[in-house]
Amino acid sequence: MAETIFTKILRGDIPCHRVYEDDHVLAFLDINPIARGHTLVIPKEAAASLDQLSDDSAAAIGRVLPRIARAVLAATGATNFNILQNNGAPAHQAVFHVHFHIIPKHADGSGLEMEWNAGQLHDGAALATAIAAHATVPR
Ligand code: AMP
Repeated sequence: MAETIFTKILRGDIPCHRVYEDDHVLAFLDINPIARGHTLVIPKEAAASLDQLSDDSAAAIGRVLPRIARAVLAATGATNFNILQNNGAPAHQAVFHVHFHIIPKHADGSGLEMEWNAGQLHDGAALATAIAAHATVPR
């Protein structure tokens, strides 16, 4: 995987406003927040996108993500938030090292805005079967 700006942050080569760290995970403030408290949570493992992340790193992030979200809410006074996780440039990923955005939704309306173009599910049974066939494969 090509080195990213998050690799440099993990190495300490460039600074960040760190809010949490353990053996597998680092969390720090987003440098261009879309809301006060916008925080990034990243694995220390170098993986470009979530589908490439090991089960161990995924478990480590999953264990602390709610805790860090609670901390962001407590510190900012927000009571609502989104978790955003982009994979691939067409899906708005700009830094190719897995990261979860914690984005508070504040009373002033600041936070994540999105279009949600809901459709109709037509081939649910076949599609679920196709996905299920791959869903038990660990990494
Ligand atoms: P994404 O579009 O999901 O790849 O988001 C990448 C995020 O990384 C953006 O919200 C950027 O503001 C943030 N970012 C980029 N460089 C830094 C940095 N040096 N420190 C903190 N956040 C950063």
